[in-house]
Amino acid sequence: MRTAIIGGGAAGFFLAINLKEMCPQMHVTIYERSQHLLRKVKVSGGGRCNCTNTFEDVRDLSAVYPRGHRLMKRLMKGFSQRDAYAWFERHGVPLTVQPDHCVFPAAQDSQVIIDCFLHHARRLGIDIRLSTPVTAITPASPLQVTVPEGSPESFDFIALTTGGQSSLSGLRWLADLGHEIEFPVPSLFTFSIEDHALRALMGTVVEGATAAIPGTKFRASGPLLITHWGVSGPAILKLSSYAARYLADHDYHAPLIINWTGMNEEQVRAELQALLAANPHKQLTSLHPFGLPTRLWHHLLSKANSQSLTPNPQHPTPNRLPPPPQNPLSLRRPPHRRPLHHRLPRPLQGRVRHLRRHLPQQRQPLDP
Ligand SMILES: Cc1cc2nc3c(=O)[nH]c(=O)nc-3n(C[C@H](O)[C@H](O)[C@H](O)COP(=O)(O)OP(=O)(O)OC[C@H]3O[C@@H](n4cnc5c(N)ncnc54)[C@H](O)[C@@H]3O)c2cc1C
Repeated sequence: MRTAIIGGGAAGFFLAINLKEMCPQMHVTIYERSQHLLRKVKVSGGGRCNCTNTFEDVRDLSAVYPRGHRLMKRLMKGFSQRDAYAWFERHGVPLTVQPDHCVFPAAQDSQVIIDCFLHHARRLGIDIRLSTPVTAITPASPLQVTVPEGSPESFDFIALTTGGQSSLSGLRWLADLGHEIEFPVPSLFTFSIEDHALRALMGTVVEGATAAIPGTKFRASGPLLITHWGVSGPAILKLSSYAARYLADHDYHAPLIINWTGMNEEQVRAELQALLAANPHKQLTSLHPFGLPTRLWHHLLSKANSQSLTPNPQHPTPNRLPPPPQNPLSLRRPPHRRPLHHRLPRPLQGRVRHLRRHLPQQRQPLDP
């Protein structure tokens, strides 16, 4: 029995090794179009490779995989995070669990994962063809794999582990096999914001922020970082991933609401009222509510109704909150007044522009 695996990334190697261990008589060939194997693994997890997660604090998969929780649930029934943990340790990679439940190699280096895959592929006699792009598959019996040089090779099984593709053209050969192709869009990017006052707060981190796109169900919580181009951090990266298709459809322009406190407006107002009552002689500017960084707090106050925050010299303590209906401390910017325009992710801007150059303006069927 012969199996061709097309793509020498994490998925290709993981499949090849498991196939050979379960089915030692199987002849397994990995085709890799580039000169490098497992290149993405090298950069994963900031060079440390986040192998899995203990899921200890995850009660609901849809909260952490809103775009594919049903599929994830099904897949994890067959191979769970515990199986993944055990697999790596059984194959000679000791792991460590971080306080946030993420699992990394104890060596804190993605190279140990690459070394593990390469070692076991060699041990099991897996045939690896570098610089060998597969250009076509003939779906007859036996299946045939076509490469630019040499004659087509026959296989009993073919697995496609070609990873993500940035353009439709890279997927055309799979569409030719009858597969339905999802239009590829970028994911996991940061946002540009046209608000110089906010950007001046670069370097500010808020741990428990929630970012949302008004009028949609897209929202994400977590640490948020203000950068010199806009906002970044886990909350924003997650939001970009949840709303990847929506943002692509809206040409990467959308309003954004940031809740800096993790509380609703009533709670915010109640907490501020209590603070003011407890500190009748203090200015709001000298209070530090919600654990917000001082610079950000001052920025938010400056956006609020400044009159109502200024003490009247004749009445020393009228340190009042702005009136409720105007929502001055809602910590959000109504899009009709001052939209926060999100542009392409700055660190990925070159890449995304590149992608967009190659993407048709509208979704187009692949079939001629
Ligand atoms: C910066 C960054 C950090 C990440 N961090 C993490 C992390 O910490 N934890 C985590 O779980 N995930 C992480 N990921 C995601 C993870 O790296 C990928 O999901 C994973 O590597 C994908 O593996 P793959 O084998 O599916 O695809 P790929 O790694 O993309 O491999 C596909 C391979 O197929 C080859 N190929 C494509 N077409 C052909 C063809 N026609 N013929 C022959 N070969 C072909 C490609 O050259 C490529 O080598 C990160 C990703 C990035 C970019």
